[in-house]
Amino acid sequence: MPELPEVEIIKIGLEKRIVGLKLTKIQINSPKSFQNEKGQPFDYTQDLQGRKVLKVWRRAKILGIDITGNLTLLFHLKMSGQLVFNGNSKFIGGHPTEDMTGDMPNKHTRVIFSFSDGSHLYFNDQRKFGWIKIVNRKSLIVNRLFEKLGPEPLEKSFTWQILKSNLLNHKSQSVKAAIMDQSVVSGIGNIYANEACFDTGINPATLVSQLSDEQFKKLYYGIVKSLKDGIKFGGSTRANFVDSEGQKGYYLDYAYCYGRNRQKCKMCGTQIKKISLGGRGTYFCPNCQR
Ligand SMILES: [Zn+2]
Repeated sequence: MPELPEVEIIKIGLEKRIVGLKLTKIQINSPKSFQNEKGQPFDYTQDLQGRKVLKVWRRAKILGIDITGNLTLLFHLKMSGQLVFNGNSKFIGGHPTEDMTGDMPNKHTRVIFSFSDGSHLYFNDQRKFGWIKIVNRKSLIVNRLFEKLGPEPLEKSFTWQILKSNLLNHKSQSVKAAIMDQSVVSGIGNIYANEACFDTGINPATLVSQLSDEQFKKLYYGIVKSLKDGIKFGGSTRANFVDSEGQKGYYLDYAYCYGRNRQKCKMCGTQIKKISLGGRGTYFCPNCQR
């Protein structure tokens, strides 16, 4: 499952390649993968021909492509979604597969976008949990996909006070589980929740109700830092992500605790411990995170 950094990397890669291009054709191989606003299969793709790509954006883990006619294509890659762009330059984002650098389309290609300059964008998805939705841009704000999402952690309007106030709705939860709740702050999954707790120096099992203001502040900076580092280091390989240039990410080589069970803490040398918290693998340094 991609987290915020992985989708942000795909956004950056697509943005510089497809903005300004015109759609000439959309081929849907799997009706389930291309839906209308109500989640039903959408097959009026001839209505989209000739529309121009205006903007590529991200909200939480969802990628948006605005096209003319007040329409937006929303992408959620879920477990095994992958985007492959073949044009003057090539890139692959999402779940890596053995065949991702091979000929396109392949047997997992669900939707093919063709552009006026002869380039193509392939949406491949082995397990078919991922989706593309075509929605009216004017209804986006009320779209149920977005209405329950918490603030974007990398936007300036997100502050430690907002984080605190949202977390206090989850007083009896552990800090780690609470920051993965998408209504508290959006885009954080298991990897970055672990890293944020490490950076904050708090045990991930600490209850929200036990946090001091000083810790709320530290947690805020820990979240922002772990996400920014994720983007900087190209996303996570363990989450099976490659970036928009087809390069594997190095985040986990760099990670302080995620995936490092029984390895030495990079700060103090103590063995990193793995526990299960809310059913998710949780890693921490018993010395640095008390
Ligand atoms: Zn340590």
